[in-house]
Amino acid sequence: MSLSGPHIMNTGVAESALEKPILESIAVSKHFHSEAGLFQRKKPPVQAVNEVSLAVRRGETLALVGESGSGKSTLGRVLLNLLKPTAGDVIYEGRNLGNLPADKLRQVRRDLQIIFQDPFASLNPRMSVESIIGEPIWLHRDDSRSARQDKVAELLRTVGLAPEHGSRFPHEFSGGQRQRIGIARALASEPRLILGDEPVSALDVSVQAQVVNLLEDLKHQFGLTLLIVAHGLAVIRHMSDRVAVMYLGEIVELAPVNALFETPFHPYTQALMAAVPVSHPDLRRPRPLLGGDMPSPSKPPSGCRFHTRCPHAKPLCREVKPVFETVEPGRQVACHYWREIANAGAGSLIVPTPSAAYSQRLNLFKSHQALSLESQP
Ligand code: SF4
Repeated sequence: MSLSGPHIMNTGVAESALEKPILESIAVSKHFHSEAGLFQRKKPPVQAVNEVSLAVRRGETLALVGESGSGKSTLGRVLLNLLKPTAGDVIYEGRNLGNLPADKLRQVRRDLQIIFQDPFASLNPRMSVESIIGEPIWLHRDDSRSARQDKVAELLRTVGLAPEHGSRFPHEFSGGQRQRIGIARALASEPRLILGDEPVSALDVSVQAQVVNLLEDLKHQFGLTLLIVAHGLAVIRHMSDRVAVMYLGEIVELAPVNALFETPFHPYTQALMAAVPVSHPDLRRPRPLLGGDMPSPSKPPSGCRFHTRCPHAKPLCREVKPVFETVEPGRQVACHYWREIANAGAGSLIVPTPSAAYSQRLNLFKSHQALSLESQP
């Protein structure tokens, strides 16, 4: 028995195919309306996602990052057709998911799977591991019971568990093992794309690396495309090929991972990157001061949505919404003043000029060293 299906590849993905989007959102919005009570005024809708256009390339790992409330999880769920968009289109393999009949949508559901954040809440405690992993196989294929059991055993081995674990229940496993079960369940329908919604943030740090490495191995083994929603920047840097930064329901910067971490252009990306530790002791990153909290998505600010917190905001930012423009091949940013900000070196890694007190201490240390060397026989 093999997990290789018609769309699961054990070899690399052709170069040209990598460039074609497997999944795309075109001006997608998702607004949540709340019902007003009898004597209450109607509340404005929560604009969780606002006119986002994004293409996920086949075979890549694309990360969606941003603070809580930035809309990254909602966008991921809209892309997977788990939430219907309020406006705009989601295109999977050239087909508009909004126009697909129910039987074709069922096939799409098989191709697009999700790994949830909380491995404790996402598994039914009353179901055995075999039933949990076998359910998608039962739903999407006509396999016999023994073939299903064989497939579950193979999936358990694939994610680093033993076939005997199939008869146990979720509470008998650790957090990392439960997430492996969640990954096996996602793989059971032989998907093409997996959305990892904060896949490791609920796990111990010691287990996070194991699950990240497992996801990477599986991506290469089965030719998967990964869409990772996360706020842990270390995980994103390790795993992703490209990163889309979201703020208040909109993408403000999209770039290859190394370019983004080396020279973030958007002031919001710069603020996020300032929290990432730098590995070289002589390098520093300036820390822009972000004022206040994220505004309510029910009443987003006019113009640039980031202007209430941006240290570089000018009057134009309050009036005019910046265009999400291509600033380099493969790189887009939504900021009126990104060029000036980049030219001023904001956000880039710098070698800091030592302060007068630091230089004094350094000279004292050097002269002390020289004295002790001279006094040696
Ligand atoms: Fe800041 Fe203005 Fe750029 Fe928005 S457009 S990020 S407010 S400088």
